[in-house]
Amino acid sequence: MINGLSFDIEEHFQVAAFDCVARRRHWDSHESRVEQNTHLILDLLERQGIHATMFVLGWVAERHKGLIRRIVESGHELASHGYAHELITGQTPRVFREDIRRAKHLLEDIGGTPILGYRAPTFSITKESEWAIPILVEEGYQYDSSIMAVVHDYYGMPGAIPTIHAISTDSGPIWEVPPSTCKWAGMTFPVAGGGYFRLFPYRVLKPLLQR
Ligand SMILES: [Zn+2]
Repeated sequence: MINGLSFDIEEHFQVAAFDCVARRRHWDSHESRVEQNTHLILDLLERQGIHATMFVLGWVAERHKGLIRRIVESGHELASHGYAHELITGQTPRVFREDIRRAKHLLEDIGGTPILGYRAPTFSITKESEWAIPILVEEGYQYDSSIMAVVHDYYGMPGAIPTIHAISTDSGPIWEVPPSTCKWAGMTFPVAGGGYFRLFPYRVLKPLLQR
């Protein structure tokens, strides 16, 4: 992962908590906002001279190829957010392998650049779904950025190392680049993540992001 700043590129309705109201089978009937909103982010980054890592959903890449090419041409790192945005805790190892392989091939074909990094939908690599890590190695990923050292109902691995480190698996090593967290009053709180970005007042978030 070559940038400290990262974005997950997906539609506004592709959120695990919305599953009961924005059913997967209806995704294509919703208004698409991802292209227009990502162009705004890319414009902003360009004005500031900042590069980022973009974890793009395969489902989005398939429908917005021009956007993927702009991400690469602008010098950002293109990485994988999987294909279908299913929580890993709800997948079998076989389904997971197919999902990350499909996303990698698609992004490499469209972007013309190797895809080395992966971030799970809703950071959903947990103690129960740790089996996903060696599969990432076998499918050619060199780093993961999914393991959040917090307590949460959908994700989190309390006690996990909160800084960049190597993980050894039977299939080989892989780097873990954990999404940012902070310690306060002996507890670990998330800093990264779109939900927290929207919920925390900016004056609280800004010093945490600058650490
Ligand atoms: Zn996502």
